[in-house]
Amino acid sequence: MSQLTAAQKDHVRELLQKLVRINSVNENDEQGDRDCPEREIANVVEAFLIDIGMSVRRYPMAPGRDNLVAHWPDQTGSKSFAYQAHMDTVTVSNMTIDPFSANIEDGKMWGRGTCDTKGSMASWLTALKIAKDAGWSFVDNVCFVATCAEETGTRGAYSLAKHNLDIDAICIGEPTNCQVVTCHKGTYWTQLHTEGKSCHASMPEKGHNAIHAMSKAIQFIENTYIPSLDKLAHPLLGPPTLSVGKIEGGIATNIVPASCTANLDFRILPGQSPQDVNQQFLASLRSAVPNETFSTTDIHAQTPVETPADHPWVRNLIASASPINDQTQPAGVTYYTDAGALGEAGINCIVFGPGSIAQAHTATEFLDLDQLYQATEIALNWLNNAQSQSLVS
Ligand SMILES: [Zn+2]
Repeated sequence: MSQLTAAQKDHVRELLQKLVRINSVNENDEQGDRDCPEREIANVVEAFLIDIGMSVRRYPMAPGRDNLVAHWPDQTGSKSFAYQAHMDTVTVSNMTIDPFSANIEDGKMWGRGTCDTKGSMASWLTALKIAKDAGWSFVDNVCFVATCAEETGTRGAYSLAKHNLDIDAICIGEPTNCQVVTCHKGTYWTQLHTEGKSCHASMPEKGHNAIHAMSKAIQFIENTYIPSLDKLAHPLLGPPTLSVGKIEGGIATNIVPASCTANLDFRILPGQSPQDVNQQFLASLRSAVPNETFSTTDIHAQTPVETPADHPWVRNLIASASPINDQTQPAGVTYYTDAGALGEAGINCIVFGPGSIAQAHTATEFLDLDQLYQATEIALNWLNNAQSQSLVS
């Protein structure tokens, strides 16, 4: 049962409607850099923060695309923590409901971004406003961070992480069903190449077929490499994974192909680096398939995240959330977040927010209002406890 007053529930619900009705669709870097989808929502969020007395600094990622960092007034703490949410959403082209109506039906709000991740943003902003109206002050410095371009490779967070933010711990707002999440996997994308020798397909013995070579690599991946990953399983995240997502090779039916490329998507665990995974993968592939030539070209990597369960930020947040969400142990998620970039910069990250990732990016995205109220209540509880103790140390 929520401890929020009816007026507080109205506030968070109406704020979420306002945020959802702002189109902040970020489909890809080209469209994003052209349309600046975070411009309007950044202005609204900045005005809200200034209105409750916080000071706001903009960190441009690209022209018209700013990250925001806000500070609670008159802070003298030795440690700082922040609430965070990204401002962009994925495309609406697959949606079968009005993406921007923010209609409420069946105890749910419907529309793009309700769950991923404007619900988190509305919760944090409402909790900060309630605390401000009540005249609270805190042991730690309290900050709020809004990032751009999360949905296209967490580009905004990587840009922001280059600055010295002086933030020790952060709550990344993403749908976790209001559970404190301390870890997620990283991604490592690379292209695997095989080399052959081209010749007329009527005399294939004169050449060397790069597609046949790739088929041996894929058999190795499926039959040997993937089963071997089980023994590396992480207690909260399970094993690392590998999936072959795309393959290209050859130029014509009657030519023996000289090259073939397969795109590999590794999901890596805390403690694994893309370099180590690459070296180990290539070494075992080469020893399993000794007569072929393999090489890789990296596409993209994002760091895994893990904040230790005994870190004060984790312990304090779980302890003060558990009367509301019944959580006793940290949780993990399979998806990727801004925590990768910000964790790499030395900030202790947890991921937490209302709603289920099962609704994110879908044709009928929605957020359960009970989740919205619960996230707000937990965020407020953390702030309440932060009046008398540091949450970070
Ligand atoms: Zn998100």
